[in-house]
Amino acid sequence: MATKPRILIVGAGPCGLTAALELARRGFTARIIDKEPGPTPLSKAVGISPRSLEILEPTGVTERLLAEGIRMKGVQARYEDRVLAIIDVSRIPHRFNFLLALPQSETETVMEDVLAARGVKVEWNVELTALRLAGAKVEVEFSGANGGTFDYVFAADGAHSRVREILGLGFTGHTHKRTWSIADAVIPDWPFAGATAMASLHRAGDAGFIIPIGANRFRAVSNTPDPLGHIPGTAGAQVSQSDTFHIPVRQADRYQEGGVFLGGDAAHVHSPIGARGMNLGIEDACSFATRLAGRTLDGYTAERHPIGRRWIVLSERMLAAVQSANPVTIAVRNTVIRTIGRLPSMQRPLLERVAGLRE
Ligand SMILES: Cc1cc2nc3c(=O)[nH]c(=O)nc-3n(C[C@H](O)[C@H](O)[C@H](O)COP(=O)(O)OP(=O)(O)OC[C@H]3O[C@@H](n4cnc5c(N)ncnc54)[C@H](O)[C@@H]3O)c2cc1C
Repeated sequence: MATKPRILIVGAGPCGLTAALELARRGFTARIIDKEPGPTPLSKAVGISPRSLEILEPTGVTERLLAEGIRMKGVQARYEDRVLAIIDVSRIPHRFNFLLALPQSETETVMEDVLAARGVKVEWNVELTALRLAGAKVEVEFSGANGGTFDYVFAADGAHSRVREILGLGFTGHTHKRTWSIADAVIPDWPFAGATAMASLHRAGDAGFIIPIGANRFRAVSNTPDPLGHIPGTAGAQVSQSDTFHIPVRQADRYQEGGVFLGGDAAHVHSPIGARGMNLGIEDACSFATRLAGRTLDGYTAERHPIGRRWIVLSERMLAAVQSANPVTIAVRNTVIRTIGRLPSMQRPLLERVAGLRE
């Protein structure tokens, strides 16, 4: 390629921002647009994996995330009022031997700042409204700004991707019926270790999860209407924001059509258990930028689709185990969790997958 390709990134969530950062450090300038006025204000991803920290390190983002986030070193698994296991996250075989807990809104703000310092401004309030494949080029129209013709489009426009819809790419799967709840809360008298997350499982398949996001600040998620109701030690909690959501489990049939590539939630969505959603998107974006620079983009779907598939299968298994109300399944599951807790060698494969170090 004699001249630099014209690249458009649709969506300035963690996936699109990573693509822009990764391209910028390789000498490519992309236009990046988002229909919203700024980074998400919503309660979404919290856990940043060692692999994501490694990917973002050369851009300068990781240093800032490490300064702001909490290094989570353990996960306590409980059944009713008993501790089943404490998983030692610091066994992750990596120099970043922790999951970094930081609200997604703060992660996106850091990414946007670092990108701006590299001279790339996110075009907020600009929505992609139309897209056409025209030979080897991609023509797009926006509302809020002039569109244009691009060599490559990276669609990181989330689960309801307009780009995926325009291209008619299937997004096969289903949405779980159960309503989940989520809340951010200050818990002044948290009785457990500060940098530890908790999964609290119950007889009827009810479950609550909590993860620290700051000094006395926590994010709680539950498959019941009360995000904190199944977590012990939360009396006196002051909830600052809360919401409900359903879990979609879907994957795009292909991640590429002509010069258009899908990444992040536009390509795959699944349960938040295991904290992989945002991290898989960061990995997709890194792969896209690396392949664009190395002119190997045609291998993108073949690399990324099976990785997304494997995580969807594993996260569905974990979700079913967590939500089981069957006494036999619960007994087997609890035995497995206790055994994993006792045997560090059994913790390692799961930790490596959550960390993004093994697919
Ligand atoms: C309750 C909840 C908890 C979660 N917890 C975790 C967790 O702990 N760990 C984890 O890794 N993941 C978690 N996730 C998932 C994580 O939030 C997503 O995987 C992540 O946000 C996906 O990033 P993305 O950049 O692909 O898409 P998004 O963050 O959805 O960003 C897409 C962007 O595209 C923009 N856009 C959409 N359409 C257009 C258009 N036509 N034109 C221009 N812009 C457009 C949107 O405004 C948006 O900013 C959670 C999600 C939820 C809902």
